[in-house]
Amino acid sequence: ENNRIPMVAGNWKMNGDRYLVEQFSKGLKTQQLTCSVVICPPSVYLPLFSGHDFSLGAQNVSHLENGAHTGELSVAMLKEVGSSHVIVGHSERRESQQESSELVAKKAQQAVEHGLVPIICVGEPLDVREQQTVETYIAEQINALTDLLSVEALAQCVIAYEPIWAIGTGKTATPQQAQEVHAFIRRTLNEHAAGLGDGMRLLYGGSVKADNAKELFSQPDVDGGLIGGASLKLEDFIAICQAAN
Ligand code: PEP
Repeated sequence: ENNRIPMVAGNWKMNGDRYLVEQFSKGLKTQQLTCSVVICPPSVYLPLFSGHDFSLGAQNVSHLENGAHTGELSVAMLKEVGSSHVIVGHSERRESQQESSELVAKKAQQAVEHGLVPIICVGEPLDVREQQTVETYIAEQINALTDLLSVEALAQCVIAYEPIWAIGTGKTATPQQAQEVHAFIRRTLNEHAAGLGDGMRLLYGGSVKADNAKELFSQPDVDGGLIGGASLKLEDFIAICQAAN
């Protein structure tokens, strides 16, 4: 399979309810789409989807297999309730749960090892963008992955570039800004192992909407998007999926 078929993933965050699950199960029909579609609801809703033809993902996972870890969920549990993907290292978790790049890499490793595709988020805060040290910042996040995961494991990962200043702010990166960082990430992965970056999906995330998706997704190194706010409205989300076709 060509890994770079565009992907559109929706991150519901701590939003949604049974009704939204039902609405998406019934209303989001992906047969006419050429992109892969993944919906990442709060994990408790994963088993409530039925009759859907898109993939499901969780928003976080433990880096451990099982045991005395109150409140945590394992890869095996998430698989059992229907997910094939999992977001790891979202900036909201890096920030509020102090998830380090090393921990994020462990989660990605655990996901691949036990059969979930990790969608690994990277991205810089505003001050880093202003100081023009984006590449150094992103390199640290990518290097934590290449330090821990084998080349074979990395090849199964999806990376989402999400500049923190663009998440939930309505301030989208320009297509050029997105392309620049995506090209940098791909180059970094290629330097780690020949051809690695060329075969991996790189998604852009940060205020993607129906009206800016097409231009972002048409950048040569942008293979789709990770969508927050606009993934909660079926019509908007469908329009974004269509922009990836
Ligand atoms: C996200 O949180 O992954 C995201 C991209 O959010 P939004 O689309 O709302 O900016």
